[in-house]
Amino acid sequence: MQTLLNILQEADRAGIAIGHFNISESVALTAVAAAARELDVPVVIGLSEGERKFFGTRQAAAVVRAIRDEHDQRVYLNADHTHSLESALEAARAGFDSVVFDRSALPFAENIRETRRAVEALKAVNPAIIVEGEIGDIGTGSEIHEKAPDQMVLTTVREARQFVAETGVDVLSPAVGNMHGLLKSMIHGTAEKRLNLSRIKELKQAVGIFMTLHGGSGTNDVDLREAIHSGMTMVHVNTELRVAWRRALDESLSKDETEVVPYKILAAPREAVKAVVRDRLELFNARDASSVTSSSWGRSPDRTESHR
Ligand SMILES: [Zn+2]
Repeated sequence: MQTLLNILQEADRAGIAIGHFNISESVALTAVAAAARELDVPVVIGLSEGERKFFGTRQAAAVVRAIRDEHDQRVYLNADHTHSLESALEAARAGFDSVVFDRSALPFAENIRETRRAVEALKAVNPAIIVEGEIGDIGTGSEIHEKAPDQMVLTTVREARQFVAETGVDVLSPAVGNMHGLLKSMIHGTAEKRLNLSRIKELKQAVGIFMTLHGGSGTNDVDLREAIHSGMTMVHVNTELRVAWRRALDESLSKDETEVVPYKILAAPREAVKAVVRDRLELFNARDASSVTSSSWGRSPDRTESHR
């Protein structure tokens, strides 16, 4: 099976992106894997520290390994937003393919120091592990927010270059207009996130390594395509899945109050998550910009079919 590094290299060359989807439990996990399998594209399943605590770090690794083996599927596992070295090492030892080491809340010099230490320690556990570093503030929490953060400071070329040179990370996550979570207005379909595409291009040229776009939920589809063309090799989506999961579960529960069979109740959330993942994967993996699809996570039940 190809390694995550092979997959990143291929995506980078082809000007497409790998979809990264966060999950907290097995309904969403199997939905993500099934969507990627249907489209025959690679996919990364991510669990933040909170998600790992709920699911179990080794359990998540075991389930993903089982899916990989059973289907010979290119499905990879990422320890998303890991704030301590201890937790990063735990994921590396459990067999995660990559770690997002996030000390972006620290002053820049300390972030560099801690990230460099993490890169060394993680590669000592598994030389093939992919380590991503974070600079800039893109907000916390893949949740529904009342309003946008007060200030969105973009990552500069200078700090990106310095960060990459001094830490040795494989992947950089910059702040380029993206943010975690969704605003209420985005759920209602009256607002979308817009990205600074020229900054993405400048950063990619300056650092030369892979870059990840976090907080992909609710982003304008054309911006996403352009961001991928400009050098984003992985795109993270979490909140859109959570919204779809929650809505489908609500509907499922209210449809028949006497239903108690979990696999019947949970069939709808699984399908809803799968539909969102499919749409996003089609967009991220499209080699032709004209095949842009609209997202299905919320506002558009009659979504346009894509033509791959
Ligand atoms: Zn993120």
